[in-house]
Amino acid sequence: MASEMTEKFKNGLFQAVVDKCEGCDRVVSLEHGKYCDTYVNPAAKWRLGLCNFATHAKPEVAVATVRINPLKAAKRAAKRK
Ligand code: SF4
Repeated sequence: MASEMTEKFKNGLFQAVVDKCEGCDRVVSLEHGKYCDTYVNPAAKWRLGLCNFATHAKPEVAVATVRINPLKAAKRAAKRK
């Protein structure tokens, strides 16, 4: 099983991980380099932003806080009646 796993990284298809992959659980460390177990080209994964497979980095979820002026809200509610 272990040799099967390392075999896929030896055929040259898989590219080495990039700095941003540091800390990700999917990084496989081999004697000839570090590879991503999931993605063949880690650099491409990070080029457009966060890698969506990363286990160590998650996108910040932007929570929009809508401030409601209670006076205006009360007036709007009164108008609707
Ligand atoms: S899953 Fe993404 S962050 Fe993790 S090693 Fe692979 S390319 Fe890098």
